[in-house]
Amino acid sequence: MKYCPMCGTTLTSTFDHYLPAVKFPEFAVHALNLVPCCALCNSTKDDDWLTVTGHRQYLHPFSDEVPQVEFLFVDLNEADDNLSVGATFYLSRPQDIDEPLWSIIERHFERLHLLRRYSELSNDEIREILAACSVFLTAGGTDFASFLRESAREAEETFGFNHWRARLMWRMALHPHVGGWIRSQMRP
Ligand SMILES: [Zn+2]
Repeated sequence: MKYCPMCGTTLTSTFDHYLPAVKFPEFAVHALNLVPCCALCNSTKDDDWLTVTGHRQYLHPFSDEVPQVEFLFVDLNEADDNLSVGATFYLSRPQDIDEPLWSIIERHFERLHLLRRYSELSNDEIREILAACSVFLTAGGTDFASFLRESAREAEETFGFNHWRARLMWRMALHPHVGGWIRSQMRP
């Protein structure tokens, strides 16, 4: 797996004990309890896997089954000069996700600061996506909208349905101003 399954932003560099090894030494080397993840998620997650009322704080990337419905949304924010675009991510519960699972998803996102991390990373990511579109046009491509939709579909298949990159690409692919943003990137 390329990206950390807890946040989907960086390469994995460590293993997290989903159940803290201090409290559950019997599961310390159990395969499902060893989740490859990035150092930031690992240090944030720490040993607090349960709330004080005994509810799980984090999704388990391999054993929790989250329905393939959109719950991560993104708004694109255009600067006044129309030349730069930023993104703001937010969660919204779809009907197909029941309340107990939804509250784990919300805690997972909140405790790992995922919405803020995604919004911060989006500045670079949007620039890269627009740059890829410019290359596509420079190479003789014309239909940048379907190029973007295809890239979004690939990101969805590779990283997962609610992966932040996939949601961001979809949002860009369907935005009416995306052509202007690409052209402003191509100016010398
Ligand atoms: Zn991570």
